[in-house]
Amino acid sequence: MPRIYIETFGCQMNEADSQYIADRAASAGYEIASKPEEANVLVLNTCTVRDNAERRAYGRMNHFKVLKEADPGVRLVVMGCLAEQDRDRMQALAPHVDAVFGTKELVALGDRLESWQPAIRDESETDETIEQKALLMPLGGSADAITDAFSHLRGFVTVQRGCSYYCTFCIVPHVRGRFDHRPMREILAEIEGLIAAGAREVMLVGQTVNAWKDPATGEDFGDLCKAAAALPRLERLTFISPHPKDFTEKVIRDLGEIPQLNPRVHLPLQSGSDAMLRRMNRKYTMEQFREKVELIHRYLPQWAITTDIIVGFPGESDADFEATLDYVKGNVFANAFTFIYSIRRGTPAARWEQVPGDVSSERFKRLVDAQNAATRAYHDRKIGTTVRALVSGPSKKDATKLAAKTGDNVTVIAPMPEDYDEALYAREPWLDIVVETAHVWGCMGTIRGRAARFADAATAVARPVVSLL
Ligand code: SF4
Repeated sequence: MPRIYIETFGCQMNEADSQYIADRAASAGYEIASKPEEANVLVLNTCTVRDNAERRAYGRMNHFKVLKEADPGVRLVVMGCLAEQDRDRMQALAPHVDAVFGTKELVALGDRLESWQPAIRDESETDETIEQKALLMPLGGSADAITDAFSHLRGFVTVQRGCSYYCTFCIVPHVRGRFDHRPMREILAEIEGLIAAGAREVMLVGQTVNAWKDPATGEDFGDLCKAAAALPRLERLTFISPHPKDFTEKVIRDLGEIPQLNPRVHLPLQSGSDAMLRRMNRKYTMEQFREKVELIHRYLPQWAITTDIIVGFPGESDADFEATLDYVKGNVFANAFTFIYSIRRGTPAARWEQVPGDVSSERFKRLVDAQNAATRAYHDRKIGTTVRALVSGPSKKDATKLAAKTGDNVTVIAPMPEDYDEALYAREPWLDIVVETAHVWGCMGTIRGRAARFADAATAVARPVVSLL
């Protein structure tokens, strides 16, 4: 049987696209490989949001060249934002790439996989070839979570493609195009399919997800979440990534009426300075951002707020940065993704005078220290409580421990219970974990129970043989 390996960089949108490709490949008769050296088709789903992501993607293409040299029958496909942006020059930079599919060509990629399948099946691959490839490894990197025993527990549904907001630092509207909202009935049908396939938590994905509007009826994001939550057997619902501007009071109020929603909202701040927000074309002022935070506190009082922040954006003065830092020090955010601004070719900010690297680095460090303190304080408050978290699988850093995620998106690690069995924990994936220690990255604790459904009471779990805590 032909095997396909998919590796994804970037955002949840790319995760959702990879899931679509994995589904198409599986229905065309492919087996999903967990290692590149075991695959006949390698798919690299790329990102351009930062220079670093771009370099890593080209680095991976070069790694995969080794596999193609070991077995010329292997096909390498590049998809995603970098494929869209570098379509013309990619084959010159990486001539061993067999096919390039842009962000709007997912269906065509699925069709191509189907057309390749019989030819690949006929090509006899000996055990020696596989072994030879295995010897050339490891190349680093890992497959997406789409392949393991727990991946089906989390489903991603793209509700909207593209973005029409043209933030001056962002490449997305240039490579993914303007807003294109999917009809509600299509989205609901896809969620039902994921639930039938075992999804316990469904994430609605869009670049500006809360700007979603049904193209025919004009129903908004609050209406969509309510309709999704009304589907039978949907256990948990979540979404990424909203824009502060599109959180109307009506939408936030609607969210507060949906018990299945995970209690976390991502609210990208980007900067705490009005001058910077204007230069970034973010379409809100700090006063308006504060109003959104107040609405969230009023209608969603238990929810965690997380954010994205860029430092060193062109033109950022010391005073602009201090405004961001002051806001972060107010402990508004449970967690933050912080970045030093990096030039994206083709965006307006790429042409502006840049902040010197040492200045950006020094500001970045101060910002990270401030947010780490806030994040740690948020995690500290969980010590002594029992959290319910969805299992993710053995910890990537320590296979004697199990990893899980809470609804407010906190990673919790616990020693593997004595009765651990992959199939059992995939069937009963909700873990009750007593939190014992807190860290910046998340929490550690002990698993006390597991449940088949989120709303079920937990049954007791055997204590680990040896606690390494
Ligand atoms: S809202 Fe701004 S940052 Fe987000 S995808 Fe659109 S242009 Fe990019």
